[in-house]
Amino acid sequence: MSDTETRDFIRQIIHDDLESGKHAEIVTRFPPEPNGYLHIGHVMSICLNFGVAAETAGRSYLRFDDTNPGKESAEYVEAIERDVRWLGFDWQDRLTHASDYFEQLYAAAISLVEKGAAYVDSLSADEIREYRGTLTEPGRNSPYRDRSVEENLQLLTRMRAGEFADGEQILRAKIDMASPNMNLRDPALYRIRHVQHQHTGDAWSIYPMYDFAHTLSDAFEGITHSLCTLEFEDHRPLYEWFLEQLEPVSRPRQIEFSRLNLAYAVTSKRKLNALVEEGIVEGWNDPRMPTIAGMRRRGYPAAALRDFVSRAGVTKKDKLIEMGVLENCVRESLGDESERRMAVLRPLKVVLTNYPQDKVELMQAMNHPGRPELGTRELPFSRELWIEQDDFMEDAPRKFFRLKPGGEVRLRFGYIIRCDEVIKDDAGDVIELRCSYDEDTRSGSGSSDRKVKGTIHWVSCAHAIDADVRLYDRLFSEANPNAADDLHSVLNENSLEVVVAKLEPSLSTQEAGEPVQFERLGYFCGDSETHAGSTPVFNRIVTLRDSWAKLEKQAMQQQG
Ligand code: ATP
Ligand code: MG
Repeated sequence: MSDTETRDFIRQIIHDDLESGKHAEIVTRFPPEPNGYLHIGHVMSICLNFGVAAETAGRSYLRFDDTNPGKESAEYVEAIERDVRWLGFDWQDRLTHASDYFEQLYAAAISLVEKGAAYVDSLSADEIREYRGTLTEPGRNSPYRDRSVEENLQLLTRMRAGEFADGEQILRAKIDMASPNMNLRDPALYRIRHVQHQHTGDAWSIYPMYDFAHTLSDAFEGITHSLCTLEFEDHRPLYEWFLEQLEPVSRPRQIEFSRLNLAYAVTSKRKLNALVEEGIVEGWNDPRMPTIAGMRRRGYPAAALRDFVSRAGVTKKDKLIEMGVLENCVRESLGDESERRMAVLRPLKVVLTNYPQDKVELMQAMNHPGRPELGTRELPFSRELWIEQDDFMEDAPRKFFRLKPGGEVRLRFGYIIRCDEVIKDDAGDVIELRCSYDEDTRSGSGSSDRKVKGTIHWVSCAHAIDADVRLYDRLFSEANPNAADDLHSVLNENSLEVVVAKLEPSLSTQEAGEPVQFERLGYFCGDSETHAGSTPVFNRIVTLRDSWAKLEKQAMQQQG
C-alpha cells in the first residue's frame, strides 16, 4: 500500500479500516452497465477498484449492472471484458451480473413487502411524476400506498407472472413522500417490462431498479467499499435504507469520488453512442474516440492509461484534465519502448546527381538511440530519395538548418548532401531537388569530421513502401464539449487527415498495434482493423514534443 503522503482519501479510509480491524479483507467491484464501450473515465474506476484490491491483497469483482434490458447487448459485454483485461486487471472467477441475483432480489422485494416497507402502486407514470412533488414542494402519498400486505404480495406475484402490461403496476419502497431528498420519495424497486434480456432471456417480465439491485448485489458479494462517482451521493441515504431494512450479513459502505473528464473529449456513453450512430466516427473503436477500444487501436499503451489516472488522482473535486497530460503519459511510456523507423509523410523527391545509377548501399541504422541492445537494421540508400517537403525551403531564413538552395544537410545514417538545383512544375511548385552527396561523409565511417547543423530523415524511392498514414487531432474544437447542447456545433472538422506516405521497407513486416517512432514525426502503429493485402494503414499515436532540439543534439554528438 502507498505511503501516507500519496494515499488518496479512499485509500486512506481503506487503510484505516484494515488497521482498526473493521475489515480483514477488502472487496471491491467495478460495475459497468453493458450499454456501451468503456471510456477513459471508466479507466479511473477500474484502476481504483482493482487497484485497491490488489494493493491490499483483497478481491475485486467485475459485475455487469444489467438491469436495463433493451439498451444492453452481448457485444458490449464482450468489449468490456476485453478492455478490462487489456488494461491489466484480472477478476479471476469473480465475473458476475446483477441478473445473476434476480431470484435473490425478488426474494428481498417480497420481504420488504412483508414487513410493510414496499407496496405495489397502480398509478400511471404521469401520475407518479405528478405526485412526486418538486425540489421545493413535498410529494403526496399515492392512494395505493396503504394496500394490505396480502394484496401487495398478490399483485407482485401477478406482476412477476406477466399478467400486467408495461407500466400498469410498479413496486415502490415505502419511505417518505415529503423527504427533501427526492430519491427517498418512495422510489421504484421493480418495473414491468416485457422485453428480452441479453443474459436471462425471457425468464422475467419485471426488472429491478438500479439502486435496489446495486445495493443488494454489493451486499451479496460481500463488497466492503462500494466506490462510485459523485452523482450517487444523493442516492447514499437510499443505499443505507436498503441495508437497514434488509439487514444483510455484509454491510458495504458507499464512498463517492469525482468523475474524470478529459478536455476536448466526451465521457458519456450516451454521447459516444451518438457519435457512432450518426457515423461521425468509424465506430466505438475509432482511434479518435476516448474509449479504451479506440485508444488501444490508436496505440496508447495500457501502462500509459494507468499512469494517467494515477496522476489525475482520486478526489472529490471536479476534474477536467488537459489532453496534453494524457499525451505526455503516452509519450513517456512509448519513448523507451518503441524502436525508431524512417517514414516520410509528405514526400519531395531528391536526386543525387553524383551517385551511381544502380548503386544501393545498406546503411546501419540504430533501432533506438538510447538503447544499443535493441540493435540496428539496414536501410537501403540509393540515388533517388524521398525527403519531407517541410525539410526544404526555397527562401529560407538564416536560422533554417534544413535544406535550402546551395545549403547542406545531413541525411540521418547517410551522407551530407548539398542542394544544387530546384525543379518546379508549370504552376511553380517545387517537385524535385537535384543534389550532390559528399562521399567522405558517410555516417559512422569516421572518414570526415565535417559538421552541418541540420539532420533530416529520408527513404529510398526504389525501396519505399506506400502507406496511408492517419494523422489524428482532437475530435472536438471546444475544451468542454460535454457542456454543448449540440455536439455537432463543437466538432473539430480537421480531426483526421490521411496522407500517402513513404515508409522504409522494414515497416512492411511491422505487427499491427506494435508502436514505433517515425523519426522526428511521432509515434505510430499499424492499424489493427486494416486487413492484410490492402494498402498498409498507420495511425499516429501522438506527435513528438520537441523533436528538433533532441535530434539535433544527438546529431551533434554523433558527429562531434
Ligand atoms: P456514462 O455516463 O458514460 O454512461 P456511467 O456512470 O453510466 O457512465 P457505468 O457503466 O454505470 O457508466 O459506470 C461504471 C462505473 O464507472 C461506475 O461506478 C461509475 O461511477 C464509473 N465511472 C463512469 N464514468 C466515470 C468517469 N468519468 N470517471 C470516473 N468513474 C466513472
Ligand atoms: Mg450508469
